[in-house]
Amino acid sequence: MAKKCAVITGVTGQDGAYLAQLLLEKDYRILGVARRSSHFGVSTHRLDWLGIADHIEIVDGDLLDLGGLCRIVRDARPDEVYNLAAQSFVKTSWDQPVLTAQVTGVGALNVLEAVRLEAPEARVYQASSSEMYGLIREPIQSETTPFYPRSPYAAAKVFAHWSTVNYRESFGMHASSGILFNHESPLRGLEFVTRKITDAVARIKLGQANELRMGNLDARRDWGHARDYVRAMWLMMQQPVADDYVVATGRTTTVRDFLSAAFAHVDLNADDYVRIDPAFLRPAEVETLHGDAAKAHRILGWSPLISLEQMIGEMVDADLARHRDRT
Ligand code: NDP
Ligand code: GDP
Repeated sequence: MAKKCAVITGVTGQDGAYLAQLLLEKDYRILGVARRSSHFGVSTHRLDWLGIADHIEIVDGDLLDLGGLCRIVRDARPDEVYNLAAQSFVKTSWDQPVLTAQVTGVGALNVLEAVRLEAPEARVYQASSSEMYGLIREPIQSETTPFYPRSPYAAAKVFAHWSTVNYRESFGMHASSGILFNHESPLRGLEFVTRKITDAVARIKLGQANELRMGNLDARRDWGHARDYVRAMWLMMQQPVADDYVVATGRTTTVRDFLSAAFAHVDLNADDYVRIDPAFLRPAEVETLHGDAAKAHRILGWSPLISLEQMIGEMVDADLARHRDRT
């Protein structure tokens, strides 16, 4: 039987790397879409870290370029297309709102349009986000909770989400949206709060830093592990009927408690090192996210396998190893 083929946009990012690893285990052919830069080659450091860079075919492409996306989809004739690319950092979206709308919002529409025109039978996954709930309308958020986006990023994700629903309903496409709550790993971008913390904890422990400047410590997130969450993406693509699913752990934790656990992992006390810096506050905050993944449990048979404590330990240990290697 011919191998299944998947196109992954955002393959150089955290989720792209873990999803590629999962699909390789399932014997897929993988085409990873990556943007060209003036630096030699594509930045494959996450794929290298997982030891899979040589097993992925990288194709040049940008979410802003519909023509290029059409060419990629036409040539590949994929079974599954995972749209993971985005300007994904909420705080940056206030500094680059138009770019964020174009890439994170219209870019997703470009992917849907490329598939509709060139490979309408392909199944599409859209990376929707719990940030769409923003100023939460219900204490625990599910697929039926109304959205209230609180950043240009979240507004762009709402556009992409409804575009996905609309292409499913208008054209009968197998297009699904995963409304994923925050998920982290040793491959998380350094600007996100969890990785910023674990990286700083490692440097402080090794004597390479002596403080950590933070924003709002009272914010709560429902943090899971990216490795668990990419499994949910793949499960959505295997369903006979496309649909939207919340993917979350069902447990919410403050940034303050995440900090304490990360410092405690190396026998340090967060209060001795953490300083509040207004530079890390946001023009509008998402105070609390807490997901209800009952539908994913019921229909996909999905449950997270990695606890928050295990994840924090893995992230701190990985950052310790990275910084030890540098000394
Ligand atoms: P990352 O920021 O790690 O990865 C983003 C990817 O998008 C990178 O590969 C980046 O490429 C690529 N990209 C950015 N702009 C473009 C563009 N114009 N054209 C093509 N590629 C582009 O994000 P994650 O892996 O964490 O997240 C994956 C997706 O899931 C994103 O859409 C994110 O918004 C969404 N999401 C993430 C959550 C999380 O907690 N991680 C929660 C909910 C949703 P490059 O390497 O060149 O920068
Ligand atoms: P987000 O949920 O996609 O915005 O993910 P982040 O990891 O960037 O932020 C999670 C929460 O941590 C938000 O409520 C932030 O305001 C809060 N936070 C507190 N201090 C910081 C910080 O120094 N950096 C970041 N990125 N977030 C912080």
